[in-house]
Amino acid sequence: MAQTHILGYPRIGARRELKRAQEAYWKGEIDQQALLAVGSQVRSKNWQAQQAAGLALTTVGDFAWYDQVLNHSLMFGAIPERFAEGSADNKLDQYFRLARGRAPSGEPVAASAMTKWFDTNYHYLVPEFTADQQFGLDPEWLLAEVLEAQSLGHNVKPVIIGPLTYLWLGRGVDNSLELLPRLLPRYVELLKQLASAAAQWVQIDEPILGLDLPDNWREAFAPTYATLAKASGSKLLLATYFSPLRENLELAFALPVDGVHIDAVRAPEEVAPALAALNKNQVLSVGVINGRNVWRTDLARWQQELLHIAESLGDRLWLSVSCSLLHTPVDLETETALVEEDKQKLAYSRQKLDELHTLQQALKPGAQTLPVVEKTQSRTEAEVREELASTWRAQKYPERAEVQRARWQLPLLPTTTIGSFPQTDVLREVRHQFRAQEISQQDYDAHLRAEIAEAIRRQEILGLDVLVHGEAERNDMVEYFGEQLDGFIHTGNGWVQSYGSRCVKPPIIAGDISRPTAMTVQWSEYAQSLSKKPVKGMLTGPVTILNWSFPREDIPRALSCLQIAKALRQEVQDLEAAGIGIIQIDEPALREGVPLRESGRKDYFDWAVGCFRYTCSQVQPETQIHTHMCYSNFNAIMDAIVALDADVITIESARSDLRLLQVFAGEGGSYPNEIGPGIYDIHSPNVPERKELVSRLYQLLEVIPQEKLWINPDCGLKTRSWAEVGSALLNMVEATRTVRAEL
Ligand code: GLN
Ligand code: ZN
Repeated sequence: MAQTHILGYPRIGARRELKRAQEAYWKGEIDQQALLAVGSQVRSKNWQAQQAAGLALTTVGDFAWYDQVLNHSLMFGAIPERFAEGSADNKLDQYFRLARGRAPSGEPVAASAMTKWFDTNYHYLVPEFTADQQFGLDPEWLLAEVLEAQSLGHNVKPVIIGPLTYLWLGRGVDNSLELLPRLLPRYVELLKQLASAAAQWVQIDEPILGLDLPDNWREAFAPTYATLAKASGSKLLLATYFSPLRENLELAFALPVDGVHIDAVRAPEEVAPALAALNKNQVLSVGVINGRNVWRTDLARWQQELLHIAESLGDRLWLSVSCSLLHTPVDLETETALVEEDKQKLAYSRQKLDELHTLQQALKPGAQTLPVVEKTQSRTEAEVREELASTWRAQKYPERAEVQRARWQLPLLPTTTIGSFPQTDVLREVRHQFRAQEISQQDYDAHLRAEIAEAIRRQEILGLDVLVHGEAERNDMVEYFGEQLDGFIHTGNGWVQSYGSRCVKPPIIAGDISRPTAMTVQWSEYAQSLSKKPVKGMLTGPVTILNWSFPREDIPRALSCLQIAKALRQEVQDLEAAGIGIIQIDEPALREGVPLRESGRKDYFDWAVGCFRYTCSQVQPETQIHTHMCYSNFNAIMDAIVALDADVITIESARSDLRLLQVFAGEGGSYPNEIGPGIYDIHSPNVPERKELVSRLYQLLEVIPQEKLWINPDCGLKTRSWAEVGSALLNMVEATRTVRAEL
């Protein structure tokens, strides 16, 4: 009979218990004992859920106080020197200092860098290596958890990140693969200790096998796994996910491992080749339940596809989730915000365990055929791309720039901001009261108008050139639009870990998207009525709305994106008709949807960029379209950025090396339109000094022609206080005036 297991489970707790405990501990409200107790409860519930669903193995080692990659850095002693202090007496605080720069004990220090885990919205802490990096082994936390689970009666399968993926993720040396000879003996020792702890199976994650790997990395797999397999007293399950294996498929199965896991959601076409490559002693683990989405699985389809395979492989067929369930919410039973009809269609992590069980039973000889779910006929991605082929504005940028200049008469180096202004406690409280129906819509709107009026008043006094209304009506840049558009549903407890104690609650795209009424026009119009200066309209772009939501699985993502783009285009047209002549369409998540494999990227950019252009393809030439992105490393996606064809782009750059900007102003002017490289970092409470800003402006003028340069902070200001924002913007405006006078 086929066996069931998972690659990992969410660790935040069904009611975000861990988040609350972590934050309380950091604030000094609870002690370490209390925090440890919460962690232990979360783990035992997770294990219990797996056992209750009849899983053959209980996965252990997926828990982390902050991040699983950081767990490995500590386990292998890859701890940068600045974190050494005070570690002997308080390991957990050292861990938190590595993660976030501070902990209840010890001195604050610069935290480790954080970056996205493959193509997910989960962020891991980047290992920092040095050329003379030495590794150690301190597997105490993992062994303790193995024991803890065993004492609760579980058949434990520890999970670790494989040595090649771990090295790949690190930074600080030119070629981290050179560190392998020093790291590998530690892995050997670790496997020995896990075997002594009676782990029959160990899961080793090597998701980099789904990337376009350089040859030297590919070639490192065989010798590395020969060494590990020889030393290991446990059986090894090599786990891959997020991407097709393709040229690495045979390589993966040829390794001396006892089983291989493939992501059959992302690469259903690889089940057959995997089967062909499987040797007669190996287990094939197929990830058929989507670990990245919330929809119930079409189990009937998998029953059909796997029936014969189950027959021939018997218990060498393992049924699993596509990747760790870290990326899905915990338990649908805790969900109170959804109607029953919607709930029926969804499965969170706990329900996915049950799906595994159902599928397992359905693959038994003589089992009943599962009911087939009807499929909707949908347009293909290729058709969507075709529709998006001609979305360019009628006039090219140079012509538009001319009419825009004539219309707006802005000074050289125009100053602006990215959209949001401080979300004050009062504003939060009022929003809360409105949601709890304690105040009326009228009172709420009146309050929002007062916030907007205040934001406009302050911007007028500061002397900014292009104003914003401040986004007081939005709690979140995606949720706000999701709530106004038809086709989305919003969960009450659909939290997913983003990093550390931070969780996000993505809306779910559940149907065709359309716009019943205008979403932002009244606020922009009101703001514009208060000032003679232009007020920018402010929208979240279609790609960002898509990438920060749970998408449908019954139609291509491109089609949902196009539907959102159509709704946004109506909004853009309405804003323009209402006299809003500068409109910003934010796309901070454009980069997130980029396929891990180069081969999928052109298609993605074709539809993603096409959808963005679609939103503004019908505006008048004198209407100025802005966009904003919260990063500055555009090297890989420069062509796409240019193809957005926005008149102005504002980007984050305050924290990054100015050299990155060369990309925008490189020889031949690789970025043709106007650009506002954020001139100060809004993530820090520090107020930038005028002098600093003046010299920064001069630096920028060296790489960007003055008629193309905009002056702005590097992101929205909603997390800052008005006191900080007021002084910082005043300095920004003053510095700009100083430089203007000298040009
Ligand atoms: N307009 C948004 C704001 O100012 C942009 C946020 C973002 O870039 N993530 O908050
Ligand atoms: Zn931003």
